[in-house]
Amino acid sequence: MSDVVVVGGGIIGLAIALELQDRGATVTVLERGRCGQQSSWAAAGMLAPEAEELTGDLRELGLRSRALYPQWIADLQHRTGLSCGYWCCGILCPSAQPRADTAGGVSWLNRESLDRQQPGLGPIVTGARWLPEEGQVDNRRLMAALHLAVRLAGVRVLEGVAGYQWQFSPSSTIRAIATSIGELEADHYVLATGAWTRSLLPQIPVTPRKGQMLSVFDAQRSLQRVVFGDGTYLVPRQDGTIVIGATVEDVGFLPDTTATGIHGLLAGAIALYPAIATMPIRETWWGFRPFAPNEALFLGPGPYANLTMATGHYRNGILLAPVTAQIIADQLTGRNPKSHPQAGP
Ligand SMILES: Cc1cc2nc3c(=O)[nH]c(=O)nc-3n(C[C@H](O)[C@H](O)[C@H](O)COP(=O)(O)OP(=O)(O)OC[C@H]3O[C@@H](n4cnc5c(N)ncnc54)[C@H](O)[C@@H]3O)c2cc1C
Repeated sequence: MSDVVVVGGGIIGLAIALELQDRGATVTVLERGRCGQQSSWAAAGMLAPEAEELTGDLRELGLRSRALYPQWIADLQHRTGLSCGYWCCGILCPSAQPRADTAGGVSWLNRESLDRQQPGLGPIVTGARWLPEEGQVDNRRLMAALHLAVRLAGVRVLEGVAGYQWQFSPSSTIRAIATSIGELEADHYVLATGAWTRSLLPQIPVTPRKGQMLSVFDAQRSLQRVVFGDGTYLVPRQDGTIVIGATVEDVGFLPDTTATGIHGLLAGAIALYPAIATMPIRETWWGFRPFAPNEALFLGPGPYANLTMATGHYRNGILLAPVTAQIIADQLTGRNPKSHPQAGP
């Protein structure tokens, strides 16, 4: 494997590109817009396999990736000098009753101990699971650092260039990808096109799930833990921004935030943390998660011999980026060619 074209410049495409380039490949990233401006920009950046209650293989991948994060971020910061806002701040999951986690352990705080951990939660929060190993990264800052790291490593990044069709050789391998600037040839191709995967591989059932979000500004920096409620979560950044998410909507690529969406998020947020009621609103936005049936990931060989898929990361693509990059690079460099075609729950 020498020349690789990675289609898609989100967190998954860029993380794979960096890992492959580091292992000696010559990598080109094809991004039809600007890198890191789609789902990877819209996300909340939680690193939360336990709060998300991932199960099975997906949970194992999530825990592995969470463990990779501190070193991955340190490396990106070292390469670029940019901070990624990584913060192992812990996650509180409000629940009325103590509940064992899937590993059999439980750390449940009653209201009294909760008030010591995070004062100011609303009266609806009577107790919470406490997940001290979970946290967050500022995904927008991470994407800026990853983009710079990829360029510094020598990856060719073509922005504003859409891949729109595979060109085949007589042996049914991909000879080239037709793009808006002509054909690009490579030995191997990696598809990391997120929610838009079907435009290049219609047989792969990855579809968009829209998520609306907003942010408010907490001048006092009073919220210091992620609060992962039922239907609404609060993610406090270290600069005082509180990210509030998120709707999950099966509406295709319908753009925009809606009054109902933002109203529901604000109502849930104020119930969890009443001080939000008087905080200024900073921003509203939306994005499209790449959803696959049964929340299965497509990680590994694609329908053509020289095509690898890395898509379907749905709600956890920020979390799963480091482990995805390792798995795909292991497969392509033959270090550990075990495939994970359907790492579902
Ligand atoms: C509201 C919301 C909240 C989220 N919160 C979290 C969270 O807290 N934690 C977490 O881990 N995950 C979260 N996610 C999920 C996470 O954002 C995604 O799983 C992840 O960003 C997917 O990365 P990606 O690179 O596959 O997709 P994207 O970031 O969408 O990148 C795909 C890229 O491919 C490009 N592309 C598509 N087709 C072509 C083509 N034909 N040619 C060239 N380029 C193409 C697109 O322009 C895009 O830039 C959230 C997502 C949303 C929407």
